[in-house]
Amino acid sequence: GDIADGLTRGVETTVNTVSEAFFEPVIRLGVTGLSRAGKTVFITSLVANLIARGRMPALRAAADGRIKTAWLQPQPDDTVPRFDYEAHLAAMTGATPFWPEGTSGISELRLSLRVQPRGLWGGMTGPKTIHLDIVDYPGEWLLDLGLLDKDYATWSRETLARIENRDEARVYREALETANPGAKLDEVEAKSLAGAFTAYLVAARESGFSDCTPGRFLLPGDLKGSPVLTFAPLPEQNFARGTMGREFSRRFEAYKREVVKPFFRDHFARIGRQVVLVDVLGAIHSGPRAVEDLRQAMSDILGAFRPGKNAFLSQVFLGQRVEKILFAATKADHLHHSQHAQLTAITNALLRDARSRADFAGAETAAMSMAALRATTEDRIEKDGRALDVVRGTLESSGKRAAFYPGRLPDDPSRLLNPARQGAEAWLDADYEVMRFAPQPLELRPGDGPPHIRLDRAAEFLIGDRL
Ligand code: GDP
Repeated sequence: GDIADGLTRGVETTVNTVSEAFFEPVIRLGVTGLSRAGKTVFITSLVANLIARGRMPALRAAADGRIKTAWLQPQPDDTVPRFDYEAHLAAMTGATPFWPEGTSGISELRLSLRVQPRGLWGGMTGPKTIHLDIVDYPGEWLLDLGLLDKDYATWSRETLARIENRDEARVYREALETANPGAKLDEVEAKSLAGAFTAYLVAARESGFSDCTPGRFLLPGDLKGSPVLTFAPLPEQNFARGTMGREFSRRFEAYKREVVKPFFRDHFARIGRQVVLVDVLGAIHSGPRAVEDLRQAMSDILGAFRPGKNAFLSQVFLGQRVEKILFAATKADHLHHSQHAQLTAITNALLRDARSRADFAGAETAAMSMAALRATTEDRIEKDGRALDVVRGTLESSGKRAAFYPGRLPDDPSRLLNPARQGAEAWLDADYEVMRFAPQPLELRPGDGPPHIRLDRAAEFLIGDRL
């Protein structure tokens, strides 16, 4: 009786573990992008829509009714923070909805799907379980990959050249003039220089610049105040032992070794599918310099997906590879759909350079424009005798609901991306500045996920082939 039961149960447990390991496939989906690109909103809406399965016609498995259920489970990595899905969803879908707090570090969430396999064979075998492990991490961390090939002197030289004429760096440049890096290390001075440099990075990010390394200076997490984050670029080099300059150089190496490498080894190298979210509209609105800078940052980010080019990465990837990479321009609900094709064309053009140079080791790539949580509706109004395609939304600042025209994007992306022509024209300079919409109050019926634009297409590209 009891003993036999116990044994049977024991056997069952073993079989379950084995079957889970062998027969339940896991898709590891990385979600990245620079700060405020829309990662948190994307993951929350994607998961809510997969659980509801109602608003996903372009995800074939959902449209065919083959996704039987979707539910959250404990994630496999016990030491990685859990993505705070419930809190973010409550923010976005509550009675007075608001945008959730954005990504500030790595987090993870496991969504399990019970899926009826496709075709005749699928009809015979019955549903299978597939785990989707979503890993959210700041794109700034990927930019740090570029630091691995650089020593402190090179990084200092390049950074100082870049910030020479930037207003955002004025205070840091002044701080450098009075600094004395050749003198004995003084932690107070070190902290104040690092603080001024961090303030520059923060201001640069706010102005729309994307080339802001070291990435952890912006999103320090629990490293805040530690020596690996207490250094800054210095003009002269070849410092004697015991000086601040020598110590900064040592800390730069420690940053690469203790912060950058472990992230790539422990997290990045295990990702199979990747979405890179890009606030293309925000950069266009900030102006030509920000667009050029975004193009450069994207090219650097893409470098991380070319393990062949980097000895350290080839070593941590160990033959594994990223199979698919999606580049998605977010917040497309700021534009009437008549302009979405232009936005996609610009996103494609932004990446063309990097993509054509890249050997993605066979990864399939695509670009699209989307909105993970649609905050507007479309309309057409008359203005000065002309028909204007507008979007209507509620302003976050005033709570006022109104129609907005963000301006027109060029039909030919090269007009925006060609440095020779930049500055000659301004794009998205009409209403875009004030278009900070609050999420709309929703009345979701059972089976309805939050409203979006092409989130289902994104899901089909990223995981559709595995469902
Ligand atoms: P993260 O820093 O990459 O995690 O970015 P978030 O997901 O927090 O998004 C940053 C901000 O972008 C949000 O607070 C919203 O203001 C805006 N946003 C993100 N997704 C959308 C979207 O689909 N539509 C609109 N209108 N705004 C969005």
